[in-house]
Amino acid sequence: MDKNIATLSFAHAAELLREGQISSRELVQALLSRVDVHDEALGAYLSVARESALSEAEEADARRQKGEQLSPWDGLPISVKDNIAVAGQANTCGSKILEGYTSPYDATVVRRLKDAGCIVLGRTNMDEFAMGSSTEHSAYKPVANPWARSCVPGGSSGGSAASVAAGEALAALGSDTGGSIRQPAAFCGVVGLKPTYGAVSRYGLVAFASSLDQIGPLTKTVRDSAVLYDLISGPDPNDATSVPDAATGVSGVFDSGLSLEGKKIGMPKEFFDYEGLSAEVREKVQNAAEALEQRGANVKEVSLPYNEFAIAAYYIIAPAEASSNLARFDGIRYGRREVAEAAGRLLETYRLSRGKNFGEEVKRRIILGTYVLSSGYYDAYYLRAQKARTKLREDFARVFEECDVLLTPTTPSGAFRMKQVTEPLQMYRSDIFTISANLAGIPGISVPCGFTETEGLPVGAQFLAPHFAEKEMLRVAAAYEQASPAAGCYPDVTETDG
Ligand code: GLN
Repeated sequence: MDKNIATLSFAHAAELLREGQISSRELVQALLSRVDVHDEALGAYLSVARESALSEAEEADARRQKGEQLSPWDGLPISVKDNIAVAGQANTCGSKILEGYTSPYDATVVRRLKDAGCIVLGRTNMDEFAMGSSTEHSAYKPVANPWARSCVPGGSSGGSAASVAAGEALAALGSDTGGSIRQPAAFCGVVGLKPTYGAVSRYGLVAFASSLDQIGPLTKTVRDSAVLYDLISGPDPNDATSVPDAATGVSGVFDSGLSLEGKKIGMPKEFFDYEGLSAEVREKVQNAAEALEQRGANVKEVSLPYNEFAIAAYYIIAPAEASSNLARFDGIRYGRREVAEAAGRLLETYRLSRGKNFGEEVKRRIILGTYVLSSGYYDAYYLRAQKARTKLREDFARVFEECDVLLTPTTPSGAFRMKQVTEPLQMYRSDIFTISANLAGIPGISVPCGFTETEGLPVGAQFLAPHFAEKEMLRVAAAYEQASPAAGCYPDVTETDG
């Protein structure tokens, strides 16, 4: 068993359970053993729910023996990013300010997985409050890339991506505000899906930028992403931005033969002309376009001129929303409190608790966000960013009149080295191809499409689709996956460099 657990997909594990070839307990135990062996070097987990995972696995096995399984996925373990609430478990968001806090309730996505019989294996590491693109900025420890430990796994869902790539999880949940599912998926050679805004409930996701955040799966295959999307999506009375018209039954595309005949696929020229795009990544994604053509798709160049403003607009809107969302962490209601002794104690307690327990990047965003929302600057920055956002949405709407799905690189380069990117603006630019999907609210998925020749690091191809067109997007992604030279490749975590 231990031999192939590293490459086992969520859907395949479900088959093994159904056929009685493995028990849920064995599955959980095998994953825990891999975590024991490899995670000290990788740092993908912030906490592992060993006891509860094993006992829930035994309960699932007992249900299955009686033929009373809750769903085909009953007994399957999944790992969950540490900013998504799981009742009775820590929920640190990778921040010191939430050290010691235990969530009293389940996020809707977690509730839905539990209702299907799934088991939370552990909480994955992340950049503090999901701000970052490298998972070097967790307050606890950095995460290493399973393909090369001297490189970052991407972020902010770097722990989720690394846990799946390294075979320490069958699948994981992450969150994506500007690329935090797709970018680490690309860097770690796994599949990462950001659903349409409103398709998946955000109830229980610690808010970073509420108009951009979405929860989604990081998986080994496109099929697994579809399965998990079906499990977690759908309207929720606890999230007023979740909508009833989200795509449903998307894993049904796999019953249809994945034909691309007549599909129109656009390649936005601004993405491919971007001066920071590495030649190797451009070439791999162009190869992906050829593979799609060979399967009958019609590939053509399109233009998204307003993408140029995506990063600038995002780094006004996201910090603005973050400055408001993070106001609740005041040392009184949640987590760590630094008690001030002097006079004027309440204000000083706020100041010390926030000053000592938020990291540098989080403070930078709060300050920036407060500034752009302040009177006098609101019109000059926040309002203009919102106008740019509208233009970007219009860009996509126009392009989707002439094509079904877009193909772009997920990131400008392969994974960079740890401590290589020290400038905040340089870090921000690593999301140049992912951020516009969040601003427009459309779905996106990153699928492995090859490896850099120089360093052998994974490269991701990103597919984007109109709102609620997850099914079409997954059809194209899955058809491509069958032709991808990177499909079915996994890192040898025992041998990655130091
Ligand atoms: N890297 C981007 C940021 O730092 C996106 C983060 C995310 O998607 N959560 O804000």
